[in-house]
Amino acid sequence: MSLAVEPQTDFPAVPEHNRLGLNYRLPIPRPKVRGVVVDYHTHLLAHRHLPEWIDAMNHFGIDAFCTMTPLEEAVRIKRDLGDRVHFIAIPRWGNDSPDWVDDWLRRLECFYNLGSRIIKFHMAPGTMHRNRYDLEHPGIQRIIREAVDRNMILMSHVGDPDLWYQNRYADTSKFGTRERHYQIWEAQLQAHRDRVWIGAHLGGNPENPERLQELLDKYPNLYLDLSATRWMVREVSLRRDQMRDFVIRYQDRLLWGSDQVSGDNRDFDFLASRLWCHRKLWETAYIGPSPILDPDLDLDHQPVLRGLALPDEVLQKIYHDNTVRVLGEYGIRFQTSQEVESSVKT
Ligand SMILES: [Zn+2]
Repeated sequence: MSLAVEPQTDFPAVPEHNRLGLNYRLPIPRPKVRGVVVDYHTHLLAHRHLPEWIDAMNHFGIDAFCTMTPLEEAVRIKRDLGDRVHFIAIPRWGNDSPDWVDDWLRRLECFYNLGSRIIKFHMAPGTMHRNRYDLEHPGIQRIIREAVDRNMILMSHVGDPDLWYQNRYADTSKFGTRERHYQIWEAQLQAHRDRVWIGAHLGGNPENPERLQELLDKYPNLYLDLSATRWMVREVSLRRDQMRDFVIRYQDRLLWGSDQVSGDNRDFDFLASRLWCHRKLWETAYIGPSPILDPDLDLDHQPVLRGLALPDEVLQKIYHDNTVRVLGEYGIRFQTSQEVESSVKT
């Protein structure tokens, strides 16, 4: 082993979730909201991820959340968190065995028994292609009927970033077109007009507020969540004034969500980066670089985050009122950590 001092050329890489070197532990006030702040769209994937997850939530003033958690992990999480958490029913991811419909129906029942009143259909172009189904598939239709019979909220992820349609989904003979994907969704929105339907990620098309406006006007049962961090930071910022008008106009139809995803290597800083961006994007007038690397853009064209500085009464609705009201109509109640603790004691 040589003891010669080599000139240092490899500096530690800047983490993709903190390119600005921020201190995510700096104190930040809670959102200016009366009642519980609810993150409507998350993926807490395992009970063992809870310590970092709760740490990040607490730091950013998030009280409760809905999560698409694998069924196998759900019971322990529910036992620890009570009604701070509600599950959105999902199938076993990547299940392509012949009995996938029956398996999904069994899982639906288990989730229902854990209090779940929402079912999510992941109908992104890549998923539909991989699983060879869409919302009209007879198996999916069976599952939708079962969820409707149980009086559950329907939720879907339709669409994906425009950038993806331009490259990874460019082969429309394989993936279909965005227009077709929305036609299929609309037929279902029409068929279930008397039931709440929540469209993830601003209906999967933040690039096109005109489309979203049309959908919301046409289907009074439709609500959209504001989740996904890099996608929202990029596309909402890009049309900042138009999106601000849009959110204010449809302030009763939007639910805030982060699309936070836990993981074995996702520490406080990683999780915090998502919540930091969301709070900057919706609450403040921050204009500046995003701390998170956007892999869909090259390094010279990283997005500028342009905060919407939404009025307090709009924040009250997207962080609390809409979620509590809409989910409440289907029997879902949220509790704060203090309420959970005191209900355990009594
Ligand atoms: Zn998600």
